[in-house]
Amino acid sequence: MTERTLSIIKPDATRRNLTGKINSMLEGAGLRIVAQRRLSLTGVQAEKFYEVHRDRPFFGELCEFMTSGPVVVQVLEGNGAIALNRRVMGATNPADAEPGTIRRELAISLTENSVHGSDGPETAAIEISFFFAEVDIPG
Ligand code: ATP
Ligand code: MG
Repeated sequence: MTERTLSIIKPDATRRNLTGKINSMLEGAGLRIVAQRRLSLTGVQAEKFYEVHRDRPFFGELCEFMTSGPVVVQVLEGNGAIALNRRVMGATNPADAEPGTIRRELAISLTENSVHGSDGPETAAIEISFFFAEVDIPG
């Protein structure tokens, strides 16, 4: 089934000039980048985006990191795109990620883990609408 998911290339990756390499890994796995924009998150935006983690001990560090440099937000489309993107990303902690995944090959640490991907259909819809109007997703 064709699905859409939200992906974010995080500040540790934009800082190291890895946007193209990550996009190539996403496309190589069969995902289509159907919308994409580079921006700097405000503190308020980062706190809202990661609201589910507000009570976790790493929340402050996470929001500080996500506002430390530009990010690339993108809508990925493909067959089973949500789960496929999570597979290509690899485990949250790069030390646990499978060889060949984005996080295993490129991430620095548990916090500076290079990419975000929606974790289910409902969060994907909410997260896509956080950054993109339907008219801004040309397909
Ligand atoms: P993401 O939501 O960014 O795609 P994820 O779904 O794999 O990653 P989550 O559990 O949603 O992981 O955590 C969100 C982000 O918070 C992680 O990507 C990571 O950057 C950071 N994070 C998660 N757990 C920790 C932790 N124990 N210590 C520090 N940072 C953490
Ligand atoms: Mg998550």
